[in-house]
Amino acid sequence: MKKILIIYTGGTIGMSKSDKGYIPKLDEFHAALDRIEELKNPGMPAWDIINMDPLLDSSNMTVKEWNEIGRVIADNYDAYDGFVVLHGTDTMAYTASALSFMLENNNKPVILTGSQIPLNEVRNDARDNLITALMIAADERIHEVCLYFGGKLLRGNRSTKISATGLSAFISPNYPELAVAGIEIKFNESALMKPTDKPFRLVLLENVPIGVIKIFPGIQFTLFESIMTESLKGIVIETFGTGNIPDNGEALLPIIKKAFDHGTILTVCSQCPQGTVYLGAYETSSALKDAGAVSGYDITTEAAVAKLYYLFSLGLGRDTIKARMEENLRGEMS
Ligand code: ASP
Repeated sequence: MKKILIIYTGGTIGMSKSDKGYIPKLDEFHAALDRIEELKNPGMPAWDIINMDPLLDSSNMTVKEWNEIGRVIADNYDAYDGFVVLHGTDTMAYTASALSFMLENNNKPVILTGSQIPLNEVRNDARDNLITALMIAADERIHEVCLYFGGKLLRGNRSTKISATGLSAFISPNYPELAVAGIEIKFNESALMKPTDKPFRLVLLENVPIGVIKIFPGIQFTLFESIMTESLKGIVIETFGTGNIPDNGEALLPIIKKAFDHGTILTVCSQCPQGTVYLGAYETSSALKDAGAVSGYDITTEAAVAKLYYLFSLGLGRDTIKARMEENLRGEMS
């Protein structure tokens, strides 16, 4: 019988109402878990649960908690066949992306899930998300970090939250779904990561200063000059379309050039969820390339942020980080 370790980090799935809104409540979550008879069904894998302390609304996730989750997985890697990480939806795609980089040569299913409605409410999406995530975590075909939500299994570092209220809250805009859970769970086998025989290793992340800038019409770039100092290690720029920025008013490029000269890595992503950055397709993006920015191609902002943390934590030089940002390391870009 397969053995799965559930790592409960917080999030709506285990929350209860308080006079200040939903908060994580450990006892009530465990009481709700005990009421799910299906979790004791012989058709289900055996499971243990570890509760993180403190339990978090995932808005409060930081590199520190990513490292704690990574450590729990690494410490229990040989003892379990798979892992289910119960997590808030707000930053689930960031954590899934971070874990995909941190867990080098991971061969086991690591499935993040959560819910939009708590498990202890009568009508909820938590029950199915949890039961199906447990079943998928016991499947030998999965060798990667995934996100299961609302009937879809997605590659973790390709996923993004698209609905604040809907039960089908995540999509993977630039990569096919890994499985769809209808009457049966149907895997898209050709899209799954292949197993590796290299040794598993956990890379802990350092809390390097990283920024995200979203370009908008009329943006006053000079306001950003003060943050573009040598202390900022990486910046993700969310540009228009294929990597375009305004080049007719305030000058961003000298500021970018200055940041680059300081050693800051500038990664260009697109505000469009679907499609890819193509620096040089328009005059408005050529200059970004000339200023030293790297293309994130079709990476999500979540994965770009996590990848910067990871590459800086490896202690690599700037040119290597620049080159790796444009390479596909974990299936995060096409
Ligand atoms: N704020 C919650 C969280 O991310 C939302 C959720 O879980 O759906 O922890």
